[in-house]
Amino acid sequence: MEELNVLSLDEPQCSICKTSMNPANVFCSECGFPENGSDKEVAQFHARRAMENNQHMDADKKIKSARNVLYVMAGITFIFGVIYFLTDQDIAVLLTNGIISVIYVLLASWTSKKPLTAILLGLFLYITTIIIAAVFDPSTIIKGIILKIIIIAYLAKGVYSASSIKK
Ligand SMILES: [Zn+2]
Repeated sequence: MEELNVLSLDEPQCSICKTSMNPANVFCSECGFPENGSDKEVAQFHARRAMENNQHMDADKKIKSARNVLYVMAGITFIFGVIYFLTDQDIAVLLTNGIISVIYVLLASWTSKKPLTAILLGLFLYITTIIIAAVFDPSTIIKGIILKIIIIAYLAKGVYSASSIKK
């Protein structure tokens, strides 16, 4: 009984993720750490990990920016709805903008769970509203064109980062 305990204690483990491993193996099957590898292989492992970590942090930042853009879109859409309502007494615009605004808020909060889908839908919704506005009044497409490009660029960066994280 005691011998068994000693045996299980002595069973070689990966020093990074604590997975038990065959002493004949150089690399941990779970995390790829070169438990029985050379110093160079160990250094390479840590360098790769640090790099992956940086990429993740960078992607997180871009997803966060895209999320903020969606919140800003919700605010702008709602404010425009209110302005139209106050100037034209147009309840339909107020209702439509209110609904779109709520969708933006939902998508923004959803980016923490499903960033790729949420930002992609946000981008799709934004482009759709631009197209619909342009169908009614083609001159709207030029209005705030730089802001439109910036918003689309932020959302597109967010989509790209979210898809790189997913793997
Ligand atoms: Zn491991």
